Amino acid sequence: MKLSKLILENKEFKLPSLGYAFDALQPYIDSETMKEHFSKHFKGYVNKLNDALKGKKKVNGDILEVLKNIKSYDDKVRNNAGGVFNHEIYFKLITPDGSKAPVGNLKKDILEKFGDFGKFKDEFTEAGLGRFGSGWSWLTLTNNGLKIHSTPNQDNPLMSYSEIKGIPVIGMDVWEHAYYLKHKSKRGDYIKDFFKVLNWDKAEEIYQKAKN
Ligand code: MN
Repeated sequence: MKLSKLILENKEFKLPSLGYAFDALQPYIDSETMKEHFSKHFKGYVNKLNDALKGKKKVNGDILEVLKNIKSYDDKVRNNAGGVFNHEIYFKLITPDGSKAPVGNLKKDILEKFGDFGKFKDEFTEAGLGRFGSGWSWLTLTNNGLKIHSTPNQDNPLMSYSEIKGIPVIGMDVWEHAYYLKHKSKRGDYIKDFFKVLNWDKAEEIYQKAKN
């Protein structure tokens, strides 16, 4: 699994650089949400993960090692290791640039699996809307190809807790903190806006690494 090399600069579970300005995703995701989400929530997961791992087996900053053995840790590690990994992939996938429609092999495989892009979007949206409370929607590469599903809280498909296991290609945060300041209770509106800022070049890049 080479995913960590692509999306985690984060060798000591440090907050990575966002790479663009907090207001760069407006009008779809507002700068106040981006600022809170990145520099408060994401940073909080990083700090709490470092804290939760104090005195535990050294993992050399490799979050995949932690996620792979997640059941050997307590809930504080589970929640914050998930928080660190999930937000790293999320903030790398939402950017002001990049293709706004599927490209490359990921496009080909999405069309093959879901029929057309509209059906894929509908199913992905349903996974997000159907997640009760806080959680994530995923497009995951499993042993049986691409699957759409969701996980509660900060779990992800790399964890043995997840019903669907595999390598996440696209992750969408559906915690209220990801959208409430702008979209209020309208999660569906946020999901539409998520697709407006999703960088499909990055998703294709992750997919290529996941397949290798
Ligand atoms: Mn979040």
